[in-house]
Amino acid sequence: MRNFSTPSLILSVTVSGENNRRVTVFSPDEGIFTATLYGGPKSKMRSLVSPMNSGILYYYRDEVKNQTKITDFDVKNYHLSFRENLFKTYAASFVTEILIKTKCAGSSSECWKIVNGFLDGMELCDENESRLGLIRFLWRYLSLSGCRPQTKICCVCGESLHSEKLNSSSISEKYIYSPFENAFICPSCQNPRAGDFLLSKEAVTYLEAVASLSPKEVRKITVSKTGFFEMKEFVYLLIEQVCGTKLKSLETGTGIL
Ligand SMILES: [Zn+2]
Repeated sequence: MRNFSTPSLILSVTVSGENNRRVTVFSPDEGIFTATLYGGPKSKMRSLVSPMNSGILYYYRDEVKNQTKITDFDVKNYHLSFRENLFKTYAASFVTEILIKTKCAGSSSECWKIVNGFLDGMELCDENESRLGLIRFLWRYLSLSGCRPQTKICCVCGESLHSEKLNSSSISEKYIYSPFENAFICPSCQNPRAGDFLLSKEAVTYLEAVASLSPKEVRKITVSKTGFFEMKEFVYLLIEQVCGTKLKSLETGTGIL
């Protein structure tokens, strides 16, 4: 048996046996693993080991029996505002489901950085800022999973999607997303067809900014309502494709997320 400690985020807690809890943990070193929390109803640990609490987790592991037991949890961030806001609660389950379905996009340490960046940021922000934060998180996650579309140039003519030429005259025109190229086609190269996924220049520019600017710089950029909804629909679609399935959290969070 060996004792360990690691930075951890509690993803979920379910009842297991009479007094025990089965805990799903996310850590930068181990990715996602399950551990058992023993203890009666009055155990102090039970309130500490709650979903979305993060901190340093102490546990021991019996390699022979393949058992991991939580011994202590030094909580650094309780994310208390999540419990008072429906959007934040649902956004947290959405992130949890994505992490579990994609196994942290195969890179738990990088994943740890962007997940905690998003959750800790959401704790400090109001709901509207958190909604935009979720788009940025998903766009970064898509990059981590190697599936993020490029938003620099038109995949047909190679012209920058952000050049001034495309500005004033074509402001109402949309860019078409090409799933085959995983890129966009500019308004001069396209013949839109039914079923094409269209995004405004504003949306594509914002997504490019998330990809190329620092988080601090991107947070200063404002987005119109229309641009926001376009991006939301688009990134939700892509993230479901990465997960390879419809997401339960999106289904139950309809109207909230
Ligand atoms: Zn073009």
